[in-house]
Amino acid sequence: MLDLLLPRRCLVCGAGGTQLCDGCLERLPRIEPPLCERCGSPTAWPVARCRECAGRRLAFASARAAVVYDEAVRRIVGGWKERGLRRLADEAAALVAEALPHPGDVTVTFVPPDPARRLERGHHPAERLARALAGRWRLPCAPLLERSGSSRRQRGLSLAERRRNVSRAFRATGPPPRRVLLVDDVYTSGATVSAAASALRAAGARRIEVATFARAVRGPVLVLQQRDRTPI
Ligand SMILES: [Zn+2]
Ligand SMILES: [Zn+2]
Repeated sequence: MLDLLLPRRCLVCGAGGTQLCDGCLERLPRIEPPLCERCGSPTAWPVARCRECAGRRLAFASARAAVVYDEAVRRIVGGWKERGLRRLADEAAALVAEALPHPGDVTVTFVPPDPARRLERGHHPAERLARALAGRWRLPCAPLLERSGSSRRQRGLSLAERRRNVSRAFRATGPPPRRVLLVDDVYTSGATVSAAASALRAAGARRIEVATFARAVRGPVLVLQQRDRTPI
């Protein structure tokens, strides 16, 4: 409803008429192989574990994302979160479905919202994305997780602080299915999805794969990708 009342402008370049124009959609920095098999970080060649995830306990089997979390993507995710632009969830789901193979016989679920933030915003991008993806892939989607306490906001915390902060943030709402695809909007340190996956495994799930719209990418790979997309 609100969508109809707001002037339509591209969240990235400001062009009128649409929330995300064709040119900006085309230029979003796709994440492409080779990747770290486990955490989905772009790497120089395929590896089982990369510098980013080596030695870390990750409760998910693998994580994959469609686009690099750069400035353009940050604006899109921001608009999606603050204004609940529904159509962007479908665009994001289309990009994820383009980038990832069909996950097979899984139940799709999502990282649950922080109750305080849900009230504040009224939108929950992870759930929107999960439902849109499940629709595309014709898979069941169910809320399988809840927040178990008031974890502090992640913004501004160091990686180590983030991991500590979220490690006990979730619990399963009931016995989960054996195979789960866990959806979130952005993968930053992996701590949030790992904690959520850990809660599902503690409740009996056997294998959790993670899919996100965007992923923070550190290091020289990002520079290479940005050079590729220099316009004209
Ligand atoms: Zn644009
Ligand atoms: Zn890795």
